[in-house]
Amino acid sequence: MAPNTLTCDGAPNVYDAEPIPDQARAEIERLLCSGDLFRYTAPEASPVALLEQEFAGLLGARYALAVSSCSAALFLSLKALDLPKGARVLIPAFTFAAVPSAVIHADCVPVLCEVGANFRIDIGDFAERLEGDIAAVLISHMRGHTSDMDAIMALCDARGIPVLEDAAHSLGTLWSGKNIGTIGKVGCFSFQSYKLVNAGEGGILVTDDPEIAARAVIMSGAYEHNWKKHAGLQNSFTHWQNRLPLYNMRMQNLSAAVIRPQLPLVWDRVEAGRRNHDHVASRLNRSDWLDVPSPLPQEERAPDSLQFNLIGQWSDAEARALQDAAKVLGISVQIFGLSEDNARAFWNWKFIGDIPDMPKTRAMLMRACDLRLPARLKPAELNYIADAILSAVDQVKAARTNAA
Ligand SMILES: *Cc1c(COP(=O)(O)O)cnc(C)c1O
Repeated sequence: MAPNTLTCDGAPNVYDAEPIPDQARAEIERLLCSGDLFRYTAPEASPVALLEQEFAGLLGARYALAVSSCSAALFLSLKALDLPKGARVLIPAFTFAAVPSAVIHADCVPVLCEVGANFRIDIGDFAERLEGDIAAVLISHMRGHTSDMDAIMALCDARGIPVLEDAAHSLGTLWSGKNIGTIGKVGCFSFQSYKLVNAGEGGILVTDDPEIAARAVIMSGAYEHNWKKHAGLQNSFTHWQNRLPLYNMRMQNLSAAVIRPQLPLVWDRVEAGRRNHDHVASRLNRSDWLDVPSPLPQEERAPDSLQFNLIGQWSDAEARALQDAAKVLGISVQIFGLSEDNARAFWNWKFIGDIPDMPKTRAMLMRACDLRLPARLKPAELNYIADAILSAVDQVKAARTNAA
């Protein structure tokens, strides 16, 4: 398509979050009328408790604990492992700043490992760094890209190192048919508006380990005997009562009322997101200048965004020009390493102290493009997005030919 046939008026709004089903309204109205917003007021079956049961059922996990954010879930998971102060926690160098932040918050030290051009952990580098006195591993399935969990679990199990999963963007992703978030000791999910299930804010952790569940429940703010409202864990709780600090990161009932009617829609959203992603990916892959890396063979993805690499010869100026040309057409393409103060570029994580040189991850970030692609987009909107990006590439590359 010629560039001048696209106008930014046709650009879809990719920033709107997933819609809230109408069924949420009656429950919200009921909660507003009764004022029953605190999860532990009702003797049983509060909306938050029901959400936990439903979410555990959805993923096939024994326990779920709903909290205020995925960041809170990551923090509580680390605390529930009872690591000593200053313990070294291995995380990927490509993730959202919330991940190293949770490690710092838990009084641990984040250690970065390299991520390759396919957005997944470099297993050779991971194995090498695992030997460096690592107490726990926090895998972040960044933007829903699943690293090789078979290799990671084999390496960690052999050394008795616990694995936590940041599955904020991986709800509905399968690894050899198993739900992502149920492979490590704990899986953490987000209900922030840019994720598959939208509650504005919120998070949840799942685990099969009764001790971790009990510890996390108490620390999340189940003070006094409120833990009795979490089914199936009574023995462990009496042991931990009053021995753990309360961080008060509970979820409130209104959030659960917004989330619960979205859970039955998860698999439809996953399917739509994957179809949308694969359609745009196949169009972009026809360009010699772009590459959307393939998923690993064990992986069935649940994408709500699309990442692609600029391949061949691209200068920084050309890469920036691509962002600008796409923007003129109403499409925001963010190159992680070329957008200022990007929270996903590890060199901006000044709060972790000395920032290591991660050349492989850095090279990827300098040419990896980030594009939102919500599950609700329709075929015409997807085609507009693909046309706009391909047209922006043509413009940048034509300018180079003209200059030569
Ligand atoms: C969004 C996100 C988080 C943080 O989730 P919150 O619920 O906003 O705390 C953590 N990790 C990744 C990979 C994310 O995308």
